Amino acid sequence: MANAIPEKIRMNTTLLENLAVVAKDTALLKGVLMRIQETPNSSESVTYAPFTLFPTPVPEAVFSQALAVQTHFNTLVDKISQDAEFLQEALASTIAVDDFTAKLFKIHQQILKEGRSQPVVLGLNRSDYMLDQAADGSSSLKQIEINTIAASFGGLSSRTPDVHRHILKAAGQLKESERILDNNPAAGLARGLAKAWELYGSEKAVVMFLVEEVQRNIFDHRYVEKELWNRNIPTMRRRFEDVSKTGSLDQDKRLFVDGQEVAVVYFRNGYMPQNYISEKDWDARLMMERSLAVKCPNISTHLAGTKKVQQVLARPGVLEKFFPDQAQVVEQIRATFTGLYTLDLGPEGDKTVAMALAAPDRFVLKPQREGGGNNIYGSEICQVLQGVKDSTERTAYILMDLIHPTPVQNYLLRKDTPLKISTCLSELGVFGTYVRKGNDMVMNECVGHLLRTKSSEHSDGGVAAGVAVLDNPLLV
Ligand code: ADP
Ligand code: MG
Ligand code: MG
Repeated sequence: MANAIPEKIRMNTTLLENLAVVAKDTALLKGVLMRIQETPNSSESVTYAPFTLFPTPVPEAVFSQALAVQTHFNTLVDKISQDAEFLQEALASTIAVDDFTAKLFKIHQQILKEGRSQPVVLGLNRSDYMLDQAADGSSSLKQIEINTIAASFGGLSSRTPDVHRHILKAAGQLKESERILDNNPAAGLARGLAKAWELYGSEKAVVMFLVEEVQRNIFDHRYVEKELWNRNIPTMRRRFEDVSKTGSLDQDKRLFVDGQEVAVVYFRNGYMPQNYISEKDWDARLMMERSLAVKCPNISTHLAGTKKVQQVLARPGVLEKFFPDQAQVVEQIRATFTGLYTLDLGPEGDKTVAMALAAPDRFVLKPQREGGGNNIYGSEICQVLQGVKDSTERTAYILMDLIHPTPVQNYLLRKDTPLKISTCLSELGVFGTYVRKGNDMVMNECVGHLLRTKSSEHSDGGVAAGVAVLDNPLLV
């Protein structure tokens, strides 16, 4: 098993305890912050966002590969969002049984019918990967998913490199500390928001962060807000309820909320069914989609990030359709795909069911959900599939090969949790920003990365779900 803990200090409990104290203080000093669980909507009590004591070794070649493919993923997402026929076909079986996706799709169709009022499109996405370990010890980059809405931790991950550098120095690992890269996704996400705001073209209009009811992770957002204010771009934070109570469109479809014109709606909420408390929230989403404001993402780009679309993209010939005569781009993207299988009714889906039932431990079963904790693993796959295998209900899911990253020993630092060594698995995220106006891509960039690490006893769940913690790659 690999180890993130420097050899000299592995057995030295006193030193490790001391390092953990220094690490937590440094995280607070550097602003790696979260509100506490008990009072998620107040900044009177804050703590450090959970993180690993040591950075995790990541091979430089795979890391570079992940960064290099990001602008192609940006282009792909953007192309999908403009291909109504593709989305319709890809999602037909899903929306027949999945109410949430169906509701999103209905808004998408209404927008298509009315015609889009805003030619500017802003995408801020995060493509997530695990490094699949081969028998010979080598690892290959495999995509877990791409998040096209509310991808988080671009702010906090801009602050964690300094924390890990400091810990390594304090642990006598000066040379290693230099192998932690600078990272500033917050700046890159803000560049995209700023560009979209500028193209909207009204100095008084604001960038509205559409936020959740429970806002524990507010500091992650604040870094992006601060970058905007540094450019004299005003921002405000509002919930669905605020939009629904005070929002309206004028005769030119300009969106006003609380009397303020909104240039850009940045969705940090709205990606799961529970985010829509009532029909009024759905009405508010529709109003924002219909408006002249730039949406990040717009409804079609949101749909392009569904797991069903991911599965369809892995079918032979589909990437080629989006990138005709660009064999190299297709190759670069496809190299990151692992096995993805349809559960649509018909012989192909039947084959998937049989395969999953025969060897459930080789797969993960995924519904069309976001936010962690929704996937199904191991024997539970059999239970669920036995229940739905002969009905259309099975088409709410896709099946995916289980990826096996190398387990690494590390310590996960969490408020009020005793220091304990854990066997960990990591997931690398890469942030992408793009802005398109009509047919012109005016910006397409890879803007940074995120490493998240969790104990291997958890098969699912992110930082917000309380499972994973923030980390940094230590390039090797
Ligand atoms: P969500 O949109 O809820 O984040 P993901 O597809 O990212 O859904 O899955 C959640 C978590 O489940 C991931 O962060 C990862 O830890 C685990 N996971 C998902 N797919 C796989 C896979 N193919 N192999 C191994 N682990 C996976
Ligand atoms: Mg997701
Ligand atoms: Mg995920």
